[in-house]
Amino acid sequence: MRAVQFTGHGGRDVIEYAEREEPTRDNGEVLVDVKAASLNHLDVWTRRGLPGLDLDMPHVPGSDAAGVVVEGGGTKFEEGDRVAVWAGTACGDCEFCRNGDEPLCVNYHLLGEHVEGVHAERVSVPADNLVTVPEGVPWERAAAAPLVFGTAWRMLVTRAEVRQGENVLVLGASGGVGHACVQIARHAGATVYATAGDENKAKAARSLGAKEVFDYTDENFADAVRDATDGRGVDVVVDHVGKETWRDSLASLAKGGRLVTCGATTGGDATTDVNRIFWNQLTVLGSTMATRGEVDDVLSLVWDGVFEPRIRETLPMSDAAEGHRMLEERDGFGKVVLVPDDEE
Ligand SMILES: [Zn+2]
Repeated sequence: MRAVQFTGHGGRDVIEYAEREEPTRDNGEVLVDVKAASLNHLDVWTRRGLPGLDLDMPHVPGSDAAGVVVEGGGTKFEEGDRVAVWAGTACGDCEFCRNGDEPLCVNYHLLGEHVEGVHAERVSVPADNLVTVPEGVPWERAAAAPLVFGTAWRMLVTRAEVRQGENVLVLGASGGVGHACVQIARHAGATVYATAGDENKAKAARSLGAKEVFDYTDENFADAVRDATDGRGVDVVVDHVGKETWRDSLASLAKGGRLVTCGATTGGDATTDVNRIFWNQLTVLGSTMATRGEVDDVLSLVWDGVFEPRIRETLPMSDAAEGHRMLEERDGFGKVVLVPDDEE
């Protein structure tokens, strides 16, 4: 079987599509033939190398995939079942797991980051990481949804507790998490503002429910938010950009507002105006991944068509490097999907 693999950490030239040994199924695992997979920024970070991440090379990346069960191994899954992969694995036994808060697990792992991923023709995945995909849901959609919609759902619904009638600003609406956040905030009854880097992306964000989209390349989004809200600001900002936007994200918040972050793609050493935090009584919320219950909740809405993962491009796995380029250069809107070469 073939898989996308990194020959080491580095640029896109370390990516190859190569022959590998068939995966062996451990206890509690299910063997799955992958029909489609999708890329996340995490794949780019893993390729470049993360502090404290020590991987055996070559390493198979990938946290999102969907496909057909080949061998259920005595789990609740049987040959022929349609499944999608959820990447988060928790120990099940630490104080946080026992409280039902898997993403806080002291031994939290992600498929594709800490262990072998799913950008491969065949994978062996713990049964706990599989979600049933109903007939009729296209493979591309099933593979594009889990990580970004799970992450976005926990951020907005569980952590920020967005309510009907609130204003929400989503930074980077063209990315996977961003475009999921626009849809979820709108579905929760909020008025959604967003930022995007060009008019095509702005148009796509508006088509998913954003009321106004600000082009961060030619205006200060905090000023634009103030103008759009009669000087009030928004109740919730979703920021996964970090250093570059942090100050303006805080400046976009109304009194009592919440900033929720799930990442810092431009760096984590941002400057915070503490005066603004206490005087306006702001709340900063961190969020990462989701519980399996949250994943079930949001994916059932994806399967029902309430939420729509937008596919920016579908590429053969042998062209994974092009997909990495599209993410790194913010080229396009939504998710990049990979399909095994002979499935094209
Ligand atoms: Zn745990």
